[in-house]
Amino acid sequence: MTVEVLDGVQAQVGRFTVRRVLPRRPLRTVGAWCFADHMGPAEVTETAGLDVGPHPHTGLQTVTWLMDGEALHKDSLGSEQLIRPGQLNLMTAGRGVVHAEEATGTYRGTLHGVQLWVAQPDAERAGEPAFEHHAALPVVEGSAATATVLAGDFAGTVSPARFTTGLLGVDAVVRPGVWAFGLRPDFEHAVVALEGEVLVDGVVARPGQIAPLPAGRDELRIDARQPARILLLGGTPFPEKLFMWWNFVARSADEVSGFYADWRDRGERFGDVASVLGRIDAPVPPWEPIRERPAPTV
Ligand code: MN
Repeated sequence: MTVEVLDGVQAQVGRFTVRRVLPRRPLRTVGAWCFADHMGPAEVTETAGLDVGPHPHTGLQTVTWLMDGEALHKDSLGSEQLIRPGQLNLMTAGRGVVHAEEATGTYRGTLHGVQLWVAQPDAERAGEPAFEHHAALPVVEGSAATATVLAGDFAGTVSPARFTTGLLGVDAVVRPGVWAFGLRPDFEHAVVALEGEVLVDGVVARPGQIAPLPAGRDELRIDARQPARILLLGGTPFPEKLFMWWNFVARSADEVSGFYADWRDRGERFGDVASVLGRIDAPVPPWEPIRERPAPTV
Protein backbone atom coordinates (compact mmCIF):
# COMPACT_ATOMS: atom_id res chain seq x y z
CA MET A 1 0.00 0.00 0.00
CA THR A 2 1.27 3.48 -0.88
CA VAL A 3 2.30 5.68 2.02
CA GLU A 4 -0.03 8.70 2.41
CA VAL A 5 1.83 11.60 4.00
CA LEU A 6 -0.24 13.96 6.19
CA ASP A 7 0.41 17.65 6.83
CA GLY A 8 0.63 18.85 10.43
CA VAL A 9 -1.09 22.02 11.62
CA GLN A 10 0.47 25.09 13.21
CA ALA A 11 -0.25 25.72 16.88
CA GLN A 12 1.03 28.14 19.50
CA VAL A 13 2.87 26.73 22.53
CA GLY A 14 4.31 29.36 24.84
CA ARG A 15 6.48 31.65 22.68
CA PHE A 16 6.80 29.06 19.91
CA THR A 17 4.79 28.30 16.82
CA VAL A 18 4.92 24.51 16.55
CA ARG A 19 4.01 21.95 13.90
CA ARG A 20 1.46 19.56 15.38
CA VAL A 21 1.63 16.30 13.46
CA LEU A 22 -0.43 14.21 15.90
CA PRO A 23 -3.35 13.95 16.35
CA ARG A 24 -4.57 14.49 12.80
CA ARG A 25 -8.14 13.75 11.75
CA PRO A 26 -7.24 10.56 9.88
CA LEU A 27 -4.60 9.58 12.47
CA ARG A 28 -5.62 9.85 16.13
CA THR A 29 -2.90 7.66 17.65
CA VAL A 30 0.20 5.69 16.69
CA GLY A 31 0.32 2.93 19.29
CA ALA A 32 -0.20 4.87 22.54
CA TRP A 33 1.46 8.00 21.06
CA CYS A 34 -1.42 10.49 20.98
CA PHE A 35 0.21 13.89 20.47
CA ALA A 36 3.35 15.19 18.77
CA ASP A 37 4.58 18.78 18.50
CA HIS A 38 7.70 19.67 16.52
CA MET A 39 9.10 22.86 18.12
CA GLY A 40 11.49 25.22 16.34
CA PRO A 41 14.23 25.62 15.40
CA ALA A 42 13.82 29.08 16.97
CA GLU A 43 16.04 31.41 18.97
CA VAL A 44 15.91 31.56 22.76
CA THR A 45 17.82 33.61 25.31
CA GLU A 46 18.80 33.21 28.95
CA THR A 47 15.45 34.72 29.97
CA ALA A 48 13.11 33.92 27.06
CA GLY A 49 12.75 30.20 26.32
CA LEU A 50 9.83 28.04 25.33
CA ASP A 51 8.02 29.84 28.17
CA VAL A 52 5.06 27.59 28.89
CA GLY A 53 3.67 28.56 32.29
CA PRO A 54 2.29 26.10 34.86
CA HIS A 55 -0.45 23.96 33.34
CA PRO A 56 -1.98 20.59 34.26
CA HIS A 57 -2.05 17.16 32.62
CA THR A 58 -3.98 13.95 33.27
CA GLY A 59 -3.83 10.42 31.92
CA LEU A 60 -0.68 10.78 29.81
CA GLN A 61 3.11 10.73 29.82
CA THR A 62 5.02 13.64 28.27
CA VAL A 63 8.24 12.87 26.42
CA THR A 64 10.59 15.79 25.75
CA TRP A 65 13.48 15.35 23.33
CA LEU A 66 15.72 18.12 22.01
CA MET A 67 17.71 18.13 18.78
CA ASP A 68 19.34 21.44 19.72
CA GLY A 69 19.46 23.83 22.69
CA GLU A 70 18.49 23.57 26.35
CA ALA A 71 15.24 23.89 28.29
CA LEU A 72 14.29 23.82 31.97
CA HIS A 73 11.48 21.55 33.19
CA LYS A 74 9.74 22.19 36.53
CA ASP A 75 6.83 20.23 37.97
CA SER A 76 4.55 19.84 40.97
CA LEU A 77 6.58 16.85 42.20
CA GLY A 78 9.40 19.29 42.89
CA SER A 79 11.44 18.25 39.86
CA GLU A 80 13.67 20.90 38.33
CA GLN A 81 15.55 19.44 35.39
CA LEU A 82 17.68 20.97 32.68
CA ILE A 83 17.49 18.99 29.45
CA ARG A 84 20.03 18.90 26.62
CA PRO A 85 20.21 17.07 23.26
CA GLY A 86 20.61 13.32 23.71
CA GLN A 87 18.65 13.35 26.97
CA LEU A 88 15.03 12.43 27.67
CA ASN A 89 12.50 13.90 30.09
CA LEU A 90 9.59 11.58 30.86
CA MET A 91 6.78 12.90 33.06
CA THR A 92 3.88 10.65 34.02
CA ALA A 93 0.71 12.61 34.80
CA GLY A 94 -1.52 9.81 36.11
CA ARG A 95 -4.36 11.38 38.12
CA GLY A 96 -2.83 14.85 37.79
CA VAL A 97 0.40 16.83 37.58
CA VAL A 98 1.41 20.42 36.80
CA HIS A 99 4.53 21.52 34.92
CA ALA A 100 6.22 24.52 33.31
CA GLU A 101 8.89 24.86 30.62
CA GLU A 102 11.19 27.83 31.27
CA ALA A 103 14.29 29.55 29.96
CA THR A 104 17.45 28.12 31.54
CA GLY A 105 19.03 31.32 32.83
CA THR A 106 22.27 30.40 31.03
CA TYR A 107 21.58 29.17 27.48
CA ARG A 108 21.28 31.46 24.46
CA GLY A 109 20.91 30.07 20.93
CA THR A 110 18.71 27.76 18.90
CA LEU A 111 16.03 25.57 20.51
CA HIS A 112 14.75 22.66 18.44
CA GLY A 113 12.89 19.65 19.74
CA VAL A 114 9.78 17.57 20.03
CA GLN A 115 7.23 17.08 22.74
CA LEU A 116 5.16 13.92 22.62
CA TRP A 117 2.37 12.48 24.70
CA VAL A 118 1.74 8.82 25.43
CA ALA A 119 -1.79 7.86 26.50
CA GLN A 120 -1.82 5.85 29.73
CA PRO A 121 -3.99 2.75 29.71
CA ASP A 122 -7.17 2.74 31.78
CA ALA A 123 -5.63 0.52 34.45
CA GLU A 124 -2.89 3.11 35.18
CA ARG A 125 -4.18 6.52 34.28
CA ALA A 126 -5.52 7.28 37.76
CA GLY A 127 -2.14 6.39 39.33
CA GLU A 128 0.45 8.61 40.96
CA PRO A 129 2.39 11.17 38.94
CA ALA A 130 6.12 10.63 38.38
CA PHE A 131 9.12 12.14 36.62
CA GLU A 132 12.29 10.61 35.28
CA HIS A 133 15.26 12.08 33.42
CA HIS A 134 17.59 9.99 31.29
CA ALA A 135 20.97 11.67 30.86
CA ALA A 136 21.94 9.33 28.03
CA LEU A 137 20.12 6.96 25.70
CA PRO A 138 21.42 4.00 23.67
CA VAL A 139 22.50 4.64 20.08
CA VAL A 140 22.38 2.21 17.14
CA GLU A 141 24.49 2.69 13.99
CA GLY A 142 22.66 1.80 10.77
CA SER A 143 23.83 1.69 7.15
CA ALA A 144 22.93 5.35 6.56
CA ALA A 145 21.71 6.54 9.95
CA THR A 146 22.62 7.06 13.58
CA ALA A 147 19.56 6.12 15.62
CA THR A 148 18.88 6.95 19.28
CA VAL A 149 16.35 4.72 21.02
CA LEU A 150 13.96 6.93 23.03
CA ALA A 151 11.33 4.31 23.75
CA GLY A 152 11.14 0.55 23.40
CA ASP A 153 13.46 -1.82 21.55
CA PHE A 154 15.08 -0.99 18.20
CA ALA A 155 17.43 -3.46 16.49
CA GLY A 156 17.90 -5.24 19.83
CA THR A 157 18.80 -2.06 21.72
CA VAL A 158 16.44 -1.08 24.53
CA SER A 159 15.65 2.38 25.94
CA PRO A 160 15.73 2.67 29.75
CA ALA A 161 12.59 4.89 29.71
CA ARG A 162 9.62 3.14 31.30
CA PHE A 163 6.37 2.77 29.39
CA THR A 164 3.58 0.33 30.13
CA THR A 165 2.30 -0.34 26.63
CA GLY A 166 4.31 -1.74 23.72
CA LEU A 167 5.94 1.38 22.31
CA LEU A 168 8.75 2.46 19.98
CA GLY A 169 10.38 5.87 19.65
CA VAL A 170 13.57 6.42 17.61
CA ASP A 171 15.34 9.61 16.58
CA ALA A 172 17.50 9.08 13.49
CA VAL A 173 20.09 11.33 11.90
CA VAL A 174 20.02 10.11 8.31
CA ARG A 175 22.92 10.41 5.88
CA PRO A 176 22.49 10.45 2.09
CA GLY A 177 21.82 6.87 1.04
CA VAL A 178 19.45 4.05 1.80
CA TRP A 179 18.53 2.91 5.30
CA ALA A 180 16.43 -0.22 5.59
CA PHE A 181 15.44 -1.81 8.90
CA GLY A 182 13.00 -4.26 10.40
CA LEU A 183 9.67 -3.37 12.01
CA ARG A 184 7.44 -5.36 14.34
CA PRO A 185 4.40 -6.33 12.26
CA ASP A 186 2.12 -6.20 15.35
CA PHE A 187 3.01 -2.49 15.79
CA GLU A 188 1.64 0.41 13.79
CA HIS A 189 4.23 3.11 12.99
CA ALA A 190 4.68 6.63 11.67
CA VAL A 191 7.64 8.65 10.40
CA VAL A 192 7.87 12.34 11.35
CA ALA A 193 10.31 14.35 9.21
CA LEU A 194 12.27 16.70 11.50
CA GLU A 195 14.98 18.08 9.19
CA GLY A 196 15.60 17.77 5.47
CA GLU A 197 13.59 15.60 3.15
CA VAL A 198 13.31 11.82 3.17
CA LEU A 199 11.58 9.20 1.06
CA VAL A 200 9.44 6.87 3.15
CA ASP A 201 8.92 3.82 0.96
CA GLY A 202 9.57 6.13 -1.98
CA VAL A 203 7.12 8.88 -0.88
CA VAL A 204 8.52 12.33 0.04
CA ALA A 205 8.09 13.52 3.65
CA ARG A 206 9.21 16.99 4.74
CA PRO A 207 9.37 18.75 8.14
CA GLY A 208 5.82 19.39 9.36
CA GLN A 209 4.58 16.13 7.88
CA ILE A 210 3.89 12.66 9.25
CA ALA A 211 3.81 9.42 7.27
CA PRO A 212 1.57 6.76 8.88
CA LEU A 213 2.45 3.10 8.40
CA PRO A 214 -0.36 0.70 9.39
CA ALA A 215 0.38 -2.51 11.29
CA GLY A 216 1.36 -5.58 9.33
CA ARG A 217 4.65 -4.49 7.80
CA ASP A 218 7.97 -6.01 8.81
CA GLU A 219 10.42 -3.59 7.21
CA LEU A 220 10.84 0.02 6.15
CA ARG A 221 13.13 1.78 3.72
CA ILE A 222 14.19 5.39 4.18
CA ASP A 223 16.05 7.13 1.34
CA ALA A 224 17.77 10.48 1.79
CA ARG A 225 19.44 12.54 -0.92
CA GLN A 226 20.62 15.10 1.59
CA PRO A 227 21.31 14.98 5.35
CA ALA A 228 18.01 14.57 7.17
CA ARG A 229 16.53 13.72 10.54
CA ILE A 230 13.42 11.73 11.36
CA LEU A 231 11.45 10.48 14.32
CA LEU A 232 10.08 6.95 14.07
CA LEU A 233 7.08 6.28 16.32
CA GLY A 234 5.39 2.94 16.83
CA GLY A 235 3.41 0.79 19.16
CA THR A 236 0.65 -1.72 19.75
CA PRO A 237 -2.60 -0.18 18.40
CA PHE A 238 -4.19 1.53 21.44
CA PRO A 239 -7.46 -0.28 22.13
CA GLU A 240 -9.20 2.35 24.30
CA LYS A 241 -11.22 5.26 22.92
CA LEU A 242 -9.64 8.53 24.05
CA PHE A 243 -11.33 11.84 24.74
CA MET A 244 -8.61 14.51 24.48
CA TRP A 245 -9.27 18.12 25.27
CA TRP A 246 -6.72 20.87 26.05
CA ASN A 247 -4.05 19.25 28.25
CA PHE A 248 -6.23 16.40 29.44
CA VAL A 249 -6.34 12.86 28.10
CA ALA A 250 -9.57 11.31 29.33
CA ARG A 251 -12.34 8.98 28.19
CA SER A 252 -15.38 11.32 28.19
CA ALA A 253 -16.48 14.96 28.23
CA ASP A 254 -17.87 14.49 31.76
CA GLU A 255 -14.48 13.41 32.96
CA VAL A 256 -12.79 16.41 31.34
CA SER A 257 -15.39 18.70 32.96
CA GLY A 258 -14.21 17.39 36.32
CA PHE A 259 -10.53 18.00 35.50
CA TYR A 260 -11.40 21.47 34.17
CA ALA A 261 -13.21 22.37 37.42
CA ASP A 262 -10.37 20.98 39.56
CA TRP A 263 -7.83 23.18 37.72
CA ARG A 264 -10.09 26.26 37.76
CA ASP A 265 -10.85 25.85 41.48
CA ARG A 266 -7.28 24.90 42.39
CA GLY A 267 -8.46 21.55 43.70
CA GLU A 268 -6.05 19.13 45.30
CA ARG A 269 -5.82 16.90 42.21
CA PHE A 270 -3.18 19.28 40.84
CA GLY A 271 -0.26 20.52 42.92
CA ASP A 272 1.71 23.72 42.57
CA VAL A 273 4.87 24.48 40.68
CA ALA A 274 7.09 27.43 41.56
CA SER A 275 7.63 29.25 38.26
CA VAL A 276 8.56 32.72 37.07
CA LEU A 277 5.81 32.25 34.47
CA GLY A 278 2.09 32.79 34.99
CA ARG A 279 -0.33 29.91 35.52
CA ILE A 280 -2.26 29.04 32.34
CA ASP A 281 -6.05 29.02 32.65
CA ALA A 282 -8.01 26.39 30.75
CA PRO A 283 -10.50 27.64 28.18
CA VAL A 284 -14.12 26.82 29.06
CA PRO A 285 -14.96 23.49 27.41
CA PRO A 286 -17.39 24.16 24.55
CA TRP A 287 -19.98 21.82 26.03
CA GLU A 288 -19.98 23.50 29.47
CA PRO A 289 -22.37 26.43 28.77
CA ILE A 290 -25.04 23.96 27.74
CA ARG A 291 -24.54 21.87 30.86
CA GLU A 292 -24.63 24.93 33.07
CA ARG A 293 -27.98 26.20 31.74
CA PRO A 294 -30.65 25.99 34.45
CA ALA A 295 -33.11 23.17 34.03
CA PRO A 296 -36.38 24.36 32.48
CA THR A 297 -39.19 24.92 34.99
CA VAL A 298 -42.37 23.10 34.25
MN1 MN B 1 2.62 20.26 29.13
